[in-house]
Amino acid sequence: METMTNKISAQKAIELEDKYGAHNYHPLPVVLERGEGVYVWDVNGKKYFDFLAAYSAVNQGHCHPKIVSALIEQAQKLTLTSRAFYNDSLGEYEKFITSYFNYDKVLPMNTGAEGVETALKLARKWAYEKKGIAENEAVIIVCKNNFHGRTISIISASNDPDARHNFGPFTPGIVAVEYNNVTAFAELVTNKNVAAFLIEPVQGEAGVIVPDEGYLKKCYELCKANNVLFIADEIQSGLGRTGKLLACDHDGIHPDVLILGKALSGGTYPVSAVLASDEIMLCIKPGQHGSTYGGNPLACKVGIAALTVLKEEKLVENSERLGKLLLNELKAIQASYPELIKTVRGKGLFCAMVIHEEHDKTAWEVCIELMKNGLLAKPTHGDTIRFAPPLVINEEQLMECVAIVRKVIKSF
Ligand SMILES: *Cc1c(COP(=O)(O)O)cnc(C)c1O
Repeated sequence: METMTNKISAQKAIELEDKYGAHNYHPLPVVLERGEGVYVWDVNGKKYFDFLAAYSAVNQGHCHPKIVSALIEQAQKLTLTSRAFYNDSLGEYEKFITSYFNYDKVLPMNTGAEGVETALKLARKWAYEKKGIAENEAVIIVCKNNFHGRTISIISASNDPDARHNFGPFTPGIVAVEYNNVTAFAELVTNKNVAAFLIEPVQGEAGVIVPDEGYLKKCYELCKANNVLFIADEIQSGLGRTGKLLACDHDGIHPDVLILGKALSGGTYPVSAVLASDEIMLCIKPGQHGSTYGGNPLACKVGIAALTVLKEEKLVENSERLGKLLLNELKAIQASYPELIKTVRGKGLFCAMVIHEEHDKTAWEVCIELMKNGLLAKPTHGDTIRFAPPLVINEEQLMECVAIVRKVIKSF
């Protein structure tokens, strides 16, 4: 399959990225060239379990044949028209995704950050035109330790020094509240200038922080009582990751505005979406917001295929069942090695293991050892390792991975 002539060595690939690419990431030293399902292979042919799943963009598994087929088929027909003209795929996709998630309307974008930006703009428009907030006074409440992306407005909502330092001045009109604290939220939400509450139902980048049961529902009810929009950023927590279609489903709530991305294309292509009711979405009129690539026919076909695979292969159910198994196994490992592992937590196939800060081994070193043993995971926030494999993983594969984790932890 591969021609030896253009095969690149791992060292060369790393050198090239280092020399010619911006240094805005710090990857594990592994160079991947192929993926299939839960597996990826490096340039030397070594096989790994992918326990990051591209930050949950490949929930359907690497190179899912149905999604790739949809991509190729449409790529040979029509890829981009811009929204200056109608195309024959957008309406079909819009009908499909709005009925899939039970919303009136969708606004298609490309990356997650653009989806969040869109939701913020939509909330402000709605605040001025429907809620009657005075011009330029609208406030968006966000949660501390959030991650919503990397644009200027979004990092204005962040309290991560790395994300913010020397990137100011910041966008005004954003206040932060402690996550998983209903009382703190209740104090802020009654302010008449609050337009919306933007929240990750499970905080991903913060280290898979799962809020108490009922927290989301109580915040949602407070939003309803105060005519404030509840905006769920389900870019990472949605599409089966937590064992429900959406993480909000655990609390039985239907967000006013839903933001999706990542696995909406199964990792093949950037596709994001903002969903809302007519009352909210129709606040934005022609010419007021958009994106050249947003809603292109290629993205539409890929999006339909990615959501279809999720249902056909019962990936949500698999995530719920195997997620319980994974969490139990991780808890058992923690019980064996409490001096190294501080805590484990998770929901569905969205789990995390926290390494004791005092221990001489760091989460990074654990990840390096996991890598050597054929499992790829990435530390987040120094001490936390996220375990989030593609949702197509089966029980046998999962138990193989648990054995790798146990072996590595034991070796420490
Ligand atoms: C990844 C992520 C984003 C940003 O998505 P990009 O496609 O990287 O811009 C936003 N919100 C959450 C919760 C995410 O996990």
